[in-house]
Amino acid sequence: MEKDNVCINCFSQIDKVAKLLKLGQAELDILTVPKRILTFSFPVKLDSGEIRYFTGYRVQFNDARGPTKGGIRFHPEINLEEIKTLAFLMALKCAVVNLPYGGAKGGVIINPKKFSEAEIERVSRGYIREIFKFIGPRIDIPAPDVNTDAGIMAWMLDEYEKLEGKHAPDAITGKPVALLGSRARDYSTSMGGAYVLQELAETLGMKPKKTSVAVQGFGNVGMNIARILHEFGYKIVAVSDSKSGIFNKDGLNIKEVIAHKNKTGNLSKFKGAKEISNENLLELKTDVLVPAALEDQITKKNAKNVKAKLILEMANRPITPEADKILLEKNIFVVPDILANAGGVVVSYFEWVQNSQNYYWSEKEVLDKLKTYMTDAVKELSKVCADFRCDMRKSLYVNAIRKILEAERLRGNLK
Ligand code: NAD
Repeated sequence: MEKDNVCINCFSQIDKVAKLLKLGQAELDILTVPKRILTFSFPVKLDSGEIRYFTGYRVQFNDARGPTKGGIRFHPEINLEEIKTLAFLMALKCAVVNLPYGGAKGGVIINPKKFSEAEIERVSRGYIREIFKFIGPRIDIPAPDVNTDAGIMAWMLDEYEKLEGKHAPDAITGKPVALLGSRARDYSTSMGGAYVLQELAETLGMKPKKTSVAVQGFGNVGMNIARILHEFGYKIVAVSDSKSGIFNKDGLNIKEVIAHKNKTGNLSKFKGAKEISNENLLELKTDVLVPAALEDQITKKNAKNVKAKLILEMANRPITPEADKILLEKNIFVVPDILANAGGVVVSYFEWVQNSQNYYWSEKEVLDKLKTYMTDAVKELSKVCADFRCDMRKSLYVNAIRKILEAERLRGNLK
């Protein structure tokens, strides 16, 4: 196998379960070498008239279980190795929640803050022209990711349809509702996480009214999950953003907190709450801690001080591997990001189904189906946890990898 194609980071991910699953060389090759890697550069005319070349990537990791699926990010610091790893993690995520998809990821090396809206539109269209021949509703379906949104997906779909010469709304998901996106997509990640917590809380004997929750991060994911859990009856005792945090041991009225943040731009000075630092929020004695901001928030430095009983990883990789071990020793129940934040891709799948059928669902139908997918995944994983006597993160890897390898075996690609 060409060394350049291997996903180096995937080895450390797979190491977690290689022995448990008795993986041989053929299996390791399938799990560490993406099926297709596209690296390209493309010209974009800037507003000044200057032509600038941008570097883009699209990695389609494994399509044994269905067309590949994954976001496109615009970021100045992305690199191919990172995109390969994220594509691999998408393959696991889709397998864990039983979506008929493989995994993919893509991106452009760009700092979007430095470009005008018209320039970003030309970058988005240019990117699609480069990957056009390799994507499609039955091949690979892009979606938004860091620094890309529904508006960018609208331009990308428009470019795709121009090249295709016909309508193909199922070629890209995460579109605005007015352009055949799905209802509830904008808060689906948080809703999915809330359903996961609800399902686990029931089995762990946690009653919402008596369950205290701290949420780190008050952006799309953090604000929505705080709002939803508050509506479910949980006691949200603390929330924070990059500027400040607030705490009230009797619970915060999240609706009012959102109104306060929208009005003042800040969480601080919310009536009836104390100010709290981010460090202290992570170490609060709560039942549930929801990191929903950035990666690497719980590290070997602060893991020993974490007192929550359950951590719902809504952000991607908020816990470092060293911290994960410490939390496991402390018997803290960690719900891994691949499951906790899978609600977004589940509703992306629903969008693709609706587009393919040309039949659109109500918000309630979307949420009911999302609940089924998320709770079924929790039940399935809980069984794997019991069978393999391991924590949820390991069980998730076992479960996803088994499904991918089984599909490869049935296709005759593995003995
Ligand atoms: P966002 O940019 O909307 O919000 C991030 C929030 O985190 C902001 O409120 C910001 O102020 C806060 N923040 C930044 N630094 C902080 C710090 N040091 N302490 C506390 N808060 C801090 O981003 P988002 O879309 O809500 O994504 C949050 C996380 O969830 C990311 O890890 C993202 O990769 C992950 N995620 C998001 C989605 C999605 O659908 N948006 C899906 C899967 C995973």
